[in-house]
Amino acid sequence: MRVVALVPAAGAGRRMGAGKPKAFLPLNGQPLIVHTLRKFEECPSVDEILPLVPEGEVLDCTDWVHRSGFQKIPRVLAGGPERQDSVFIGLQAISGTCDFVLIHDGARPFVTTSLIEEILVAAKRYSAVAAALPVGDTLKEVSEDRRILRTVDRRRFWLMQTPQCFRYDLIFKAHRNAREEKFIGTDDAALVERIGVQVTVITGSPLNIKITTPEDLLVAEALLKHLEQ
Ligand code: C5P
Repeated sequence: MRVVALVPAAGAGRRMGAGKPKAFLPLNGQPLIVHTLRKFEECPSVDEILPLVPEGEVLDCTDWVHRSGFQKIPRVLAGGPERQDSVFIGLQAISGTCDFVLIHDGARPFVTTSLIEEILVAAKRYSAVAAALPVGDTLKEVSEDRRILRTVDRRRFWLMQTPQCFRYDLIFKAHRNAREEKFIGTDDAALVERIGVQVTVITGSPLNIKITTPEDLLVAEALLKHLEQ
């Protein structure tokens, strides 16, 4: 069984406001994406990793890949204008056989090898699986002018994370269909749902945060210190 991990990290990071793509912001002396890639490199079930980065960062990232001694990354690819485009570029770049595709945001460096292994085990059984967390706070629908419209039953709502893992043929078909129909989803599971395939969730981790804002970077630095103790 061959497993390929796509790591989209081609966002400009505008919400970070750092003037540098966020995947390349330093976290403990190394770009954020290097921390993320290491988790997949260390995961025995992952055969190949394809990172997708902004065009201007391909050389720098390739340099980091060599310096870090990563063995599973044959090349670093330039991503596209939207996350979905980046993932589709990665899917098209997969060569040779591929049974399962793992997709994980470069901006989530605190994913663990055990979560990656767990999602692969689930994907072999269910074909399409996403890590997610049940909503813990009260959840309300609010109008554009900030009036509460209703309170929903939070027990039925989950916050989606990555990794997400799919049988190769399913995720390829889902992305091709979305492209043909000009549909843009906010995660890959949404595209698979659209082709009528059931996606199953497994419990992710509250530490598997997506680094988006300067505050997230502060939390990430503190978390890294804590985990390294
Ligand atoms: O924008 P957001 O934080 O939701 O992006 C999630 C992941 O998708 C990030 O790792 C980001 O770098 C990546 N992305 C990408 N290509 C884009 C936009 C975002 O690979 N064009």
